[in-house]
Amino acid sequence: MTDLSCNVLVIGAGPGGYVAAIRTGQLGLETIIVEQAAHGGTCLNIGCIPSKALIHAAQEFFAVREASGGHSKLGIRTSDVGIDLAKTVAWKDGIVRQLTGGVSGLLKKAGVRSVQGRARIVDGKTVAVETADGVVRISCRNLVIATGSRPVEVPSLPFGGNILSSTEALSLAVVPETLAVVGGGYIGLEIGTAYAKLGAKVSIFEAKPHILPQYDEELSRPVAARLKALGVAVHVNALVEGYYSDQSMLRVRTGSEVTESAAEKVLVTVGRQPALEGLGLYQLGLDMEGRFIRIDTRGQTSMRGVYAIGDVTGEPMLAHRAMAQGEIVADAIAGHGGGWDKRAIPAVCFTDPELVVAGLLPDQARDTGRDVGVATYPLRANGRALTLERPDGFVRIVFDKPSGLVLGLQAVGAGCSELAGEFALALEMCATLTDIAATIHAHPTLAETVQEAALMGLGKALHA
Ligand code: FAD
Repeated sequence: MTDLSCNVLVIGAGPGGYVAAIRTGQLGLETIIVEQAAHGGTCLNIGCIPSKALIHAAQEFFAVREASGGHSKLGIRTSDVGIDLAKTVAWKDGIVRQLTGGVSGLLKKAGVRSVQGRARIVDGKTVAVETADGVVRISCRNLVIATGSRPVEVPSLPFGGNILSSTEALSLAVVPETLAVVGGGYIGLEIGTAYAKLGAKVSIFEAKPHILPQYDEELSRPVAARLKALGVAVHVNALVEGYYSDQSMLRVRTGSEVTESAAEKVLVTVGRQPALEGLGLYQLGLDMEGRFIRIDTRGQTSMRGVYAIGDVTGEPMLAHRAMAQGEIVADAIAGHGGGWDKRAIPAVCFTDPELVVAGLLPDQARDTGRDVGVATYPLRANGRALTLERPDGFVRIVFDKPSGLVLGLQAVGAGCSELAGEFALALEMCATLTDIAATIHAHPTLAETVQEAALMGLGKALHA
């Protein structure tokens, strides 16, 4: 057994862990990061980045295929269209390698020592790591738990064979003829839409009354309409009861009716849960919040010197939240001031069309007891959306009527993911409708819709 010691020991090199380690390294604190798989975590290896690569490739293929079918309004003609999915996956893997290699380089540059292996907590100051060369025992002054999350399994649909989690679905060698997606949240819809564009016959089964159930139906409606146009069958209020692998059939209950649906592959995306099993967490007896580790505004758990960040600490399980927490924890360990005081964590669904939310939805704002106004501006009135051939969708601003203070911003539309920055900035800067309306937005851009929505809220719309 080898012994190492350090000031900061980070378990998990996902967006939370690697950002925390880079920052503590930069601050001159002796840091070790332990990772059992590859640097970059879920996000870079099997999540955000590979899914967006697949979505992009699918969209490119779909556009060419549409044109080859003589459907191009732009007059584009093509012939002999096909896709070599193995090559697409190899291209995607190249992007992943480039980014994960970049993370390894940044850790090294910050003076962080990397240990490859599976960590098990011995006590609040000691971790044992199973490496290829045996067990390494690391003692530390500060421990950061950043072990992320893993997909939730449905008992009647155990992963394996034709039943896939998002990880396997992002690395298929051939496009399945039929794909059933169980769970109509953003991960299932993103991957399901990509496979529909690649030529699979896709069905989506969602237990709630509409897809993307965490958002209101007005927001999810353009996504549902586009899925229908793409030939995706969306079943809501649908409970999947099991899968007959010999017949490639899914058994689904909708109310009292039970039906069967053909599915060569079944993608199960019903949520994610913190990856804490086998970590030895019970040794610490930390306070929990449901399945998640309870933390304060500085990322500190109920035990002094033990911190937690990212997906293990709860919703929203998003990479940029994990990264922001990583920075805060590093500052806390270094004895700097500050803590979590963010007004907004934007969230983007890279569906078709894309959906972006920041701050409060209309009903959430009304629940605060404020006098709430909602201004909605349609993309069909925006020149850029028309030139992109995608005028479906809208931008919506939720505001406090008496003061004009912006409480929330949402958009659904092709390319709207890029509005996430403006939305978050508006909320962090406590912008009012007047601030946004008075800001010159470049023409012709989708962002002009945000300015127009603000003008609408002020009763001064120009282009509506
Ligand atoms: P993770 O990224 O999960 O990293 C944890 C790391 O800890 C892993 O590398 C793991 O191997 C390691 N680890 C775990 N246990 C141990 C142990 N005992 N010893 C050593 N190492 C260990 N988020 C977005 O913001 N935008 C998106 O577009 C987006 N798309 C997604 C698409 C998919 C398909 C999926 C699955 C997720 C997506 N997410 C997205 C979510 C995002 O990936 C996570 O929120 C983010 O990765 C969480 O970061 P983290 O640092 O908490 O954990």
